[in-house]
Amino acid sequence: MKTEKSVKEIMPGLLKRLKRKAIVVEEPIACGCGREAPPDYAIWKGKYTCSRCRRKRIAEGDIRKALRRAGVPDDYLEASFDTFQCFKDLQEHFSACIRYADGPSGTIFLYGDNDHGKSHLGIAILRDLCLQGFSVAYCHVPRLFREISQSYDSKTARKERWFIERYGRAEFLLLDDIGAEYMTPFKESLLYQILDEQVTKAETRMAVTSNFDLEQIEKSYSGRISTRIARKMVEQVEFRGKRYRLR
Ligand SMILES: [Zn+2]
Repeated sequence: MKTEKSVKEIMPGLLKRLKRKAIVVEEPIACGCGREAPPDYAIWKGKYTCSRCRRKRIAEGDIRKALRRAGVPDDYLEASFDTFQCFKDLQEHFSACIRYADGPSGTIFLYGDNDHGKSHLGIAILRDLCLQGFSVAYCHVPRLFREISQSYDSKTARKERWFIERYGRAEFLLLDDIGAEYMTPFKESLLYQILDEQVTKAETRMAVTSNFDLEQIEKSYSGRISTRIARKMVEQVEFRGKRYRLR
């Protein structure tokens, strides 16, 4: 069946700018990546380009800038699979993270003792997906809680909605260091809403790091948080034993 899509349907704003009438496109437009005419096409550098290809090229052009924009702190801008010092007993952990980055789908949960490089591996996944053209976001949970005041007023409510939208909408979200702090009903509700946004999407892509396993998270907070992490979990990677800081 012939698909007819007018530019008017695909990008109404563009027509206005070009002051042109709708052009009927006989074939689905493709930008070379194989994705069939997704609704997010735009003319970019003179070519029809989907958002994933646009983001991919932007990230390839300046990965540090792209990571900063995703919220990655400066001291983690170099964290990648290449810069991970992979000791023998971490080989499987490392492979699990690479496997996930190669076919990102569902939630990968990295948990256990400190100083094994859980965050490093989480950010390595994020970096990889950023270079694949996914929209990515980094959320350091304790910092998120510090950034948002916990008194209920309209400003806090706006900020809360902003965070939920930012972290909920990203195609890939890294929630780093869940469980490092004392939970209050406010914090728990915020975290729950972010997790819920992610896991109720058609395509969930999320990495969660924590010092606690799911059972401990369930005991320390309410079951709402742990069930949201577990809901689309495809891989649990446990880090245990003595290890010195790698970085
Ligand atoms: Zn494309």
